[in-house]
Amino acid sequence: MSTEHESRMEKIVSLAKRRGFIFPSSEIYGGLNGVWDYGPMGVELKRNLKDFWWRRMVREREDMVGMDGAILMNRSVWKASGHENTFSDPMIDCKTCKGRFRADQIESIPCPQKPSKIVATCEGEKMDPRDFNLMFTTHVGPMADDTNKTYLRPETAQAIFVQFRNVLETSRKKLPFGIAQIGKAFRNEINPRNFIFRSREFEQMEIEYFCHPTQGLELLDRWLEERLTFYEDIGIPRSKIHVKEIPDTERAFYSLKTYDLEYEFPFGIQELEGIAYRTDYDLRQHMTQSGKPLDYFDEVSKEKFIPHVIEPSAGADRTLLALLCEAFEEEEVTSEKGEQEVRSVLHFHPRMAPVKVGVFPLLKNKPPLVDKAHEIERALRPFLSVFYDEAGAIGRRYRRQDEIGTPYCVTVDFETLGEGGPALTNTVTLRERDSMKQERISISELGEYLLKKIF
Ligand code: ATP
Repeated sequence: MSTEHESRMEKIVSLAKRRGFIFPSSEIYGGLNGVWDYGPMGVELKRNLKDFWWRRMVREREDMVGMDGAILMNRSVWKASGHENTFSDPMIDCKTCKGRFRADQIESIPCPQKPSKIVATCEGEKMDPRDFNLMFTTHVGPMADDTNKTYLRPETAQAIFVQFRNVLETSRKKLPFGIAQIGKAFRNEINPRNFIFRSREFEQMEIEYFCHPTQGLELLDRWLEERLTFYEDIGIPRSKIHVKEIPDTERAFYSLKTYDLEYEFPFGIQELEGIAYRTDYDLRQHMTQSGKPLDYFDEVSKEKFIPHVIEPSAGADRTLLALLCEAFEEEEVTSEKGEQEVRSVLHFHPRMAPVKVGVFPLLKNKPPLVDKAHEIERALRPFLSVFYDEAGAIGRRYRRQDEIGTPYCVTVDFETLGEGGPALTNTVTLRERDSMKQERISISELGEYLLKKIF
């Protein structure tokens, strides 16, 4: 990573901590490597992202339904899916520094003892690569032995496959249709890094879209378009997303075609989402291993077959990191006093912003201003996330909202109360984050105006 990109990343991580987006997990005890907590701003941002994904991918489509599977599942699921035997990364142990590194990343990981060198070429005595299973093991019940061993799920997808029959029968959907799920996944990553990009506990937003075998390739391309549009609609321009078709040699053996959607993170162009055409591999495996029917009978053609599946699988945390990286800017601006200063701002798409509107009385010790501002705050709260702030100069309050990406701020002043004549009575100043432009708007139109602009 270049120094410029490194410093940009450091600023983003620091802002995320300082403004309550993301904290290291268990921080007062020294943290836990690869695990993060979301603070008050982060949880709103993540919720906006997941809610919008759900709205676009499930609610607005008649060919989609949702489900929410448990994190713990019967171990047989992971045997049948192939995870127990093959969900591993090759890793290399170093006898000198006692470090353990992913074999495919040693060209970019700094040596823990000599950080100026990379692991691939440092002098440490390295072992041959060995496979390391990424699933976290746990035991169900009081005995910690092999008979009751299972795993924390490393992906949400398997719950969808094993519930295929139940969902099909209860939703009475016909092919093609899809099942969506958002939930936690756990991977004991060998080298968690790049902030929340690669962590050990994360959230996935996954779709399994079932279809007739003849439709698979065409639907894969349709899902690619659908997903690119989604990223645009949350504020990540198409020009920053790279579509990579995975070559035959790197694709899973059962996949006929796979795309990775990659984003230009400050630390490099890296995967955001995989869209894989997985054929009938998963349903066939579970049907064979469980002995239960997971095939489909087409009433019209009278054909019986195992559906093929397209899997758009996105990471909520990675997308959230992309949103932060895309939004962050340090701008040179002229202050109200005419001085040049740096404004730190998050240009979130308004529908992603954790706080939609800041509401301020011009002065905090003037009850009529404060009361009016609270009145506006209360009227907006049922529809929008609002931040009421009366502390410090107005300019400072605007800057604080800029830094968390609030698209609009409303200020109640003496004109609102009638001191500027009838034309301005019951109007407020509405300030927009990106242009910093201010306009007067009447309180009665405010709610509708904001809702239209934001969603
Ligand atoms: P990578 O190659 O980066 O390890 P992957 O190809 O193994 O990822 P998938 O198994 O396809 O990832 O998982 C789907 C999505 O889940 C990824 O595109 C990513 O957004 C997210 N994801 C996977 N592993 C992690 C992780 N350790 N931390 C955060 N998000 C993850």
